Amino acid sequence: MRPLQLRRHWSMSVLRLEHVHKNYMTEGIPVAALQDVSLEFQAGEFVALVGRSGCGKSTLLNLAGAMDFPTSGTVAVDGVVTSQLSDAGLTKLRREKVGFIFQSFQLLPTLSVIENVELPLLLDGAAHARETALARLRWLEMDGYSGRMPYQLSGGQMQRVGIARALVHSPCLLLADEPTGNLDNATSEIILALLRTIATEQNTTILMATHSVEASSMADTLVRLCDGRVTELLQPVKSKPSSVATY
Ligand code: ADP
Ligand code: MG
Repeated sequence: MRPLQLRRHWSMSVLRLEHVHKNYMTEGIPVAALQDVSLEFQAGEFVALVGRSGCGKSTLLNLAGAMDFPTSGTVAVDGVVTSQLSDAGLTKLRREKVGFIFQSFQLLPTLSVIENVELPLLLDGAAHARETALARLRWLEMDGYSGRMPYQLSGGQMQRVGIARALVHSPCLLLADEPTGNLDNATSEIILALLRTIATEQNTTILMATHSVEASSMADTLVRLCDGRVTELLQPVKSKPSSVATY
């Protein structure tokens, strides 16, 4: 039993993809969005996913968030293979383990800041939703804006609220699809520094799709995709997942 237990401990990565292929059917023709992708990320690892538009970044994020499933191969979040879960299991996994942030923020326009942030907790029937949401906003220095509507915020402030909402249930995996794509350079730097802090201080694994060189330089790990394949992987040694890579 002992070697098996040790092996299991070693393999408890937050996100693991094994020989993942993803095909989409367009007009009856399969389009290969991901081809034989095998990757493994640990707690607190900040990963930049780079590559040209159409290379498969968003597809990979959707698979990692169990919003979609591989055509073949496996995706495991916190040791759980997503394609083996029931609908109820998938809902639980998405609500407990995963947070998403988006280029366009995707705040609900008719809800205030605090209502946007507490919504995932209310959907989950969690107790003390308001207090937890306020604590998250406070951590992000946005508690002074809790009564505002999204249209009353700047882009950087909207993304902070998006981050607060994504982290309100303390997920182990934060998925970010071009999170600085709609922000100016100075605001992007602030948001990237914040993501860096979240990975380091909260031990959250972050998988961030980005076009930005500056964004990727903040990460521990760089994954480059080209036509759905990993063509470059710069990753620190596994015993030091939060250390800065020397690339
Ligand atoms: P990226 O995020 O790097 O721009 P995507 O993951 O969105 O790339 O897309 C990868 C490839 O898969 C592209 O060729 C894209 O056209 C295709 N694709 C993505 N989503 C779908 C879909 N829902 N249906 C059909 N093809 C898709
Ligand atoms: Mg994309």
